[in-house]
Amino acid sequence: MNQIEENFIHIRAAIAEAEQRFGRPPGSVRLLAVSKGHAVEHLRQAIEQAGQRDFGESQIQEALPKIDELGKYNLIWHFIGPIQSNKTRSIAHHFDWVHSVDRIKIARRLDEQRPDGRPPLNVCIQVNASGESTKSGITADEAPALAQAISHMPRLRLRGLMAIPQPLTEFQRQRDAFHQIREIKENLEKQGWLLDTLSMGMSGDMEAAIAEGATLVRIGRGLFGAR
Ligand SMILES: *Cc1c(COP(=O)(O)O)cnc(C)c1O
Repeated sequence: MNQIEENFIHIRAAIAEAEQRFGRPPGSVRLLAVSKGHAVEHLRQAIEQAGQRDFGESQIQEALPKIDELGKYNLIWHFIGPIQSNKTRSIAHHFDWVHSVDRIKIARRLDEQRPDGRPPLNVCIQVNASGESTKSGITADEAPALAQAISHMPRLRLRGLMAIPQPLTEFQRQRDAFHQIREIKENLEKQGWLLDTLSMGMSGDMEAAIAEGATLVRIGRGLFGAR
């Protein structure tokens, strides 16, 4: 067994264990393999030896050749990086999900540029709870207006929220940060939005995210090693 296959077994077991420990139904947390910075051969191993189908990339120039080369596998591609206006067309054409929508202008361009005949693009709103180091993401107050706008865009399907809390080592502090994100989602749900996705948790804080209701964890280093 090679290292990547071993890593997938290990991470999937850790997800299953966290589901059980925190009272989450088995299979309720989806594993997104974050393959940015890794060669296409490593993705191929993940596909052929570990049966992985969901892959996350954060740079369009890096992603396009991989998407092209792995076309025969029928994969699900997730865009998770910051989005510049001049990249929306490529994203709308080549991806199935976008986790990092944080502006109406970007949402509108993705909607307009999603090709006819493709299913709606699944989108998450990226939120930035207090104390985050990244500048991406909107505040809790701004989320309802963006959700409202996206709901009128026929080629987008709003699935939920995504967040990248600042890296913390202590479990309870990680959990507090994810709890804030969960509350933003619950507030939107109280206002009538149907959201089935909470995209949060990375290699260093996956368990805390699962404890707070993550439905999708985005794992890079834990699967493919250091970048
Ligand atoms: C790189 C990245 C990840 C994966 O991070 P790891 O620490 O390698 O697991 C997850 N989400 C986003 C948005 C990323 O850019």
